[in-house]
Order: sequence, then structure tokens, then C-alpha cells
Amino acid sequence: MSNEVINEADRLAIQDAIREAEELTSGEIRVHIDKKCAGDPLKRAIQVFKKLKMYATKERNGVLIYLSFTDRKLAILGDEGIDKKVGAHFWDGTKNQLIEDFKRNQFTQGIINAVKESGSRLKEYFPCEADDIDELSNEITLD
Ligand code: CA
Ligand code: CA
Repeated sequence: MSNEVINEADRLAIQDAIREAEELTSGEIRVHIDKKCAGDPLKRAIQVFKKLKMYATKERNGVLIYLSFTDRKLAILGDEGIDKKVGAHFWDGTKNQLIEDFKRNQFTQGIINAVKESGSRLKEYFPCEADDIDELSNEITLD
């Protein structure tokens, strides 16, 4: 846990937003923050997705919101269950908004908004069911 990138209160606020978003949908949302990203953020997001075993959901509906703090790169990566139901540009609006928030230094609030929006948009395709379990941890990971 590095306090340079995100403090404890912000970390908890984001995790709360993930928990609340997952009350709407069976989709599983995770947030990963790197201090920096040397290359393509999408490639790095794919690597993180695998490392966190985010494909281990019944409906293959995990979503990773990936950010690198110092160079302000980001990617939103959904698993194949989501890709099958929605177009390739499904995440573009959420991503662009997050880029704007990031530019205005609305780092934590931007992430929270993106998490909330992901939840409400996934709800349409993957509604939450009564027996829902938390398939992927809501903890933010940092590198
Ligand atoms: Ca769940
Ligand atoms: Ca979860």
C-alpha cells in the first residue's frame, strides 16, 4: 500500500463504491493502480487482469479499471462474457469521462464515478441475482 498514490480514506471510498455497484449487477469490478506504466495501458491491463485471475467468474463478466498514476494512462477491460453482449466501444464513454476527471485531478472521484457507471451499465446485461456472491475481491490493488 503506497500513500503516495492514494490515501486510506480514498481507497476505502472506492472500495465502498465497488461494493455498492456490485449490488446492482452480477458483474465484478476491480480497480488496479500502477505508479507508472511504461507502455500501452491496455496491454498492461490485460496482464493485470490475468494476474488477478479476473476471468474466474461464472458469467465471465469481470471488469478491470486500470490506471497509472504519474503518466495518467488508463484502460477499462471487460471479460469475454461482456464483450459477447455489447460492442467493442461499450466502455469508451466511461473511459473518456475518467480521462477528463483525471486531467482535472479528480482522481478518486473520477474512479468512483467510473465504478458507479460501470455498475449501472452492467446491470442492464447482468442483473444481480438473489444468490449473488462476491466472486472477485473489491480490494484495490497497487503496483
Ligand atoms: Ca458478485
Ligand atoms: Ca467484487
